[in-house]
Amino acid sequence: MHELSIAMEILDIVAKAASEHGSDRIKSVRLRVGDISGVEVDSLTFSFDAIKGDRKLTVDAELVVERVPLKVHCRTCDGEFTGEGQYLTCPSCNGFDTEMLQGDELSVVDIEVE
Ligand SMILES: [Zn+2]
Repeated sequence: MHELSIAMEILDIVAKAASEHGSDRIKSVRLRVGDISGVEVDSLTFSFDAIKGDRKLTVDAELVVERVPLKVHCRTCDGEFTGEGQYLTCPSCNGFDTEMLQGDELSVVDIEVE
């Protein structure tokens, strides 16, 4: 259900972008999805394919998903690591003073039109 509303939102965004470019057909939509964004990619693709036919503009659109791994910066030792789970403890210095650099994004990066 969550993924369905995201798919609807994506279609709204790309439809608006395409009409601004005077295009009437979208070929593909490239999306960046972070590993901890909470989005089920399979479910999102399924929802997208299920509703894209509602508009002529997106009937042939293909959703291309780019996964973004979680990356964390440690302020204590200035290191970077790939965090897992919810406890973002630095593996080098065991510090807790960390910040997420990427991994929770969900955004449309590009659309290809005809
Ligand atoms: Zn550290």
